[in-house]
Amino acid sequence: MTKSLYELGEVPPLGHVPEQMYAAVIRRDRYGQPKQAIRTEVIDVPRLGPRQVLIYVMAAGINYNCVWAALGKPVDVISARMRLGLQEDFHVGGTDGSGVVWAVGPGVRDVAVGDQVVLSGAQWDEDERAVHMGMVDLPFAASARAWGYETNHGSFAQFCLVQEGQCFPKPSRLSWEEAASFMLTGPTAYRQLFGWPPNTVRPGDPVLIWGGAGGLGSMAIQLVRTFGGIPIAVVSDEARAEYCMRLGAEGTINRTEFTHWGRMPDTDDLDGMTSFIGGARAFGRKIWEIVGERRSPRIVLEHVGRDTLPTSMYVCDTAGMVVLCGATSGYNGDLDLRHLWMRSKRLQGSHGANNSQYHEVLRLVNDGRLNPCMSICETFDDIGALHQLMHDNAHPPGNMTVLINAPERGMTTLDTSTVAAQ
Ligand code: NAP
Repeated sequence: MTKSLYELGEVPPLGHVPEQMYAAVIRRDRYGQPKQAIRTEVIDVPRLGPRQVLIYVMAAGINYNCVWAALGKPVDVISARMRLGLQEDFHVGGTDGSGVVWAVGPGVRDVAVGDQVVLSGAQWDEDERAVHMGMVDLPFAASARAWGYETNHGSFAQFCLVQEGQCFPKPSRLSWEEAASFMLTGPTAYRQLFGWPPNTVRPGDPVLIWGGAGGLGSMAIQLVRTFGGIPIAVVSDEARAEYCMRLGAEGTINRTEFTHWGRMPDTDDLDGMTSFIGGARAFGRKIWEIVGERRSPRIVLEHVGRDTLPTSMYVCDTAGMVVLCGATSGYNGDLDLRHLWMRSKRLQGSHGANNSQYHEVLRLVNDGRLNPCMSICETFDDIGALHQLMHDNAHPPGNMTVLINAPERGMTTLDTSTVAAQ
């Protein structure tokens, strides 16, 4: 029997698309704290367009994208899409997910109904000339968009809408929730560490990792260690320090022991500069203690922004690189330009990943060399609360997930043979 709405975990016949679904929805009139902004609603299942794929979502990963979407800052994603002429006045977030291909749009060739997949968070228009001709690294494409943030119908719903190029085979040994936990943070960290030659991780290179126990940080520590570098993790408490050491950090620095964070003083403010340089030097000495000699980080993995960028630029080695993919603490990042040119340092922006970087991370996970670091897995009704924990920096180390249609934790596959016959 087919129905127009299925309860969470109730499996429709394979390929049958109901009219409606449960989704964790953000609306403009409740932008603000994630626990208020994100609410369960019944909405229409999205319609498929060319080269699009509808996924029956088994589990979804919690990421900062939906914190920003809930806040409505720095971008009001709903209004931004409506200005482009799209009609939907709501947002369903979720940039990480695992599930089963349920329906395919015209022109889809590479995936088929029933495929079990994990999803990348990167969309681009295959018809964009530069993409089509292979002339551009895909995150640089003019049409590149973060799925479930800049686009609607992310993984926090019973069905999500993706492009076929976002579907990668699910690692078979992982549970649905583990598989939904790392496809945003893993490839982003991988691109930061290996995507910007000549500043890629080499054996013996010290690499400073802010937020070592966070989503990006937990991936970065392992990647640096696997490729022979020396991961040095920054944390804010002892439990997070222990977590980083278990992942392979050479040592950790507790940032709460320092006070020089935030925007830099003006260079004419001598007292302010003395205080900043004193803090940054003391922080740099901690790095040398961990490395065991006076060697500074050749790469600094940044995503904190305003509070830490001045220190990142200061402690980075001559000819080293600070590579930044976000700015959780604020968007004004100061640096003393004298250090940039006199020491030939590099400040590099990095966003998302390309498909070969997604493949490489999946290979490492499949080989058992990269742990997805799933921390907790909660239920659909917890989506708002978990984003609130992330917003408040009160979440457990690693990557958080929720079950969507998966009825229980630990399932690695969905048997659709029984329901298909209904
Ligand atoms: P996360 O799991 O919350 O980890 C971030 C870590 O940063 C926290 O664990 C915290 O560790 C540390 N932190 C927070 N506030 C800080 C501050 N004021 N000073 C120093 N450290 C601070 O988040 P995530 O998933 O790793 O994402 C981090 C950022 O990267 C977000 O802004 C996100 O939007 C961005 N991001 C961008 C991309 C992209 O492709 N552009 C992809 C993924 C994420 P301690 O408190 O232990 O120090």
